[in-house]
Amino acid sequence: MQNIINDLKKTFASTASIAVKKSNELLEYSKITLAITGVQNDIEREYSAIGKMIFDVSTAEVTEKCTIIEAKILEIQELREKLAIVKKVKTCPSCHAEVSSCSTFCAKCGEKL
Ligand SMILES: [Zn+2]
Repeated sequence: MQNIINDLKKTFASTASIAVKKSNELLEYSKITLAITGVQNDIEREYSAIGKMIFDVSTAEVTEKCTIIEAKILEIQELREKLAIVKKVKTCPSCHAEVSSCSTFCAKCGEKL
């Protein structure tokens, strides 16, 4: 009878030891999985920050550059009008060719002036 009890004690101790080992493995597995998720979240946060930086740069700086370009295009248009007056020519509204200020039709495209 004592042998059976001793065997049961050994079996119980062994089972408990395996259970503790499995529990520790599960805990370690959970810790590592949680750490991986944490690092992945860090990476996602950095990606998001990069996206925001690009968005801010593109909206502010691109809008500023577009405004500058639009102003420069208007400046060129005004300079061309001044040049046309000096050269006594006018610009065809259709093909933008320079034609004599006394012409009634564009020499390049035939548009009525
Ligand atoms: Zn024309």
